[in-house]
Amino acid sequence: MPARPRGRIGRPPPVEEPPVERIYAGRILRRGRITPAEIGVDGDGIIRRVAKDLKGAPRQDFGEGILLPSGVDLHVHFRDPSPPGAVEDLSTGTVQAALGGIAAVVDMPNTDPPITTLARLEEKIARIPARAFVDVLPYAAVTTRERIPLLAPRAAGFKLYLSPTTGDIPPPAGEEVPGLLTEIAGTGLPLHVHAEDPSSFAQGKAPREPREWDLARPPESEESALRGILKGPDHLRLHVAHVTTTKAAQMVREWGGSFEATPHHLLLSTSRIRNAMGKVNPPLRTEERRRELWEEFRAGKIPVLASDHAPHPLGEKETRFDLAPAGVPGVETMLPLLLERVRAGEIELGTLWRAASRRPGLFLGLPWGRIAPGYEANLLVVDFRQRRRISARSLHAPCGWTPYEGWEGIFPVEHHLRGERIVEDGEFVGRRRGRVRRPFEPESPRRPPAAAQGPRDR
Ligand SMILES: [Zn+2]
Repeated sequence: MPARPRGRIGRPPPVEEPPVERIYAGRILRRGRITPAEIGVDGDGIIRRVAKDLKGAPRQDFGEGILLPSGVDLHVHFRDPSPPGAVEDLSTGTVQAALGGIAAVVDMPNTDPPITTLARLEEKIARIPARAFVDVLPYAAVTTRERIPLLAPRAAGFKLYLSPTTGDIPPPAGEEVPGLLTEIAGTGLPLHVHAEDPSSFAQGKAPREPREWDLARPPESEESALRGILKGPDHLRLHVAHVTTTKAAQMVREWGGSFEATPHHLLLSTSRIRNAMGKVNPPLRTEERRRELWEEFRAGKIPVLASDHAPHPLGEKETRFDLAPAGVPGVETMLPLLLERVRAGEIELGTLWRAASRRPGLFLGLPWGRIAPGYEANLLVVDFRQRRRISARSLHAPCGWTPYEGWEGIFPVEHHLRGERIVEDGEFVGRRRGRVRRPFEPESPRRPPAAAQGPRDR
């Protein structure tokens, strides 16, 4: 249509949009409904148009398939760098992410060696393009106040461990924490916190199963750690990892921070798993607490779903409970397990999408998690008729085990990263196109819009 002057002086000329180079046709979630739609994507993999009917470029028609924005996982441990012989690295981790419908991951710094200095962070950043199949946000570990401004120009965010964890990152002394929080708030970067207070751990004999692990590291230790963190400055861009109780969730929500629940705390409990495969930090809780957490998630009151993917070799998980490392693999199974809960009618697709995709994108301030012009064309094709039984053998985790053996999952049929197919018929077909990403930095640091009051499905 020729441009027609509208009679207003000084009106800027229309900005020319990059041309649509490919069209995806299928069904999308819009205002809580599944409706047919076509998505026009430009040569850089950015969505340019969404309409009922698009023309002028090659089409891929997914028919009854549902096109969803890819997941964004705010919490993985891809263990890169690690000494030789480790069971995971950025290559294997990002392949599992791709197959599980995750287009971007926040990779945690408790590697070996840990990411505590600028030199190590630079090495880590250099490793990503050569290895990653999806986008990676490399986080740095919080050690001393002096190092924070040195790391801030290159880190995607910070991770603070308030209790000892896998890797060699001693938790800061309690009196140092307020200064650390102020310093990090000043950078405008996100801070993810592992909130367990070791001074609330029970002393006594070595735990022999998840039920005893739960008693040894009780919910009160999460609440106690949170009380310290929530004294941090108002403009801290806070995200609390793996909240396991409704009380902890309420505390962070009232403060206005973002927080996540993991698939294992939502689906597993101390009565469902009895060996070291169920050893995680914070521990699995009782079935009653699990059900309460699930109800909050179902109601959309838990803003973010994140995997805390933490693979350990099978041999180490098969040793005595008290000696086994804590952590479970989960980046490949997180969305499939939850999509199966959608299929079963236990949770709405919109609720899952907001937690797995929309709010993590908002928290990071990156164009992810929506099917709308300007957003990256990171898209999944999901067919709810295609269920698959989960087994370690059919998954791609080199660690060789999963706590969800025998569970049903709905794996994405296709996954496209910035308009390029990386999964086809459930098989990985991607290239190393993963990018190093950093969150959008607002001019003045402010709280993220990612809390429970997050947007409806727009
Ligand atoms: Zn973790």
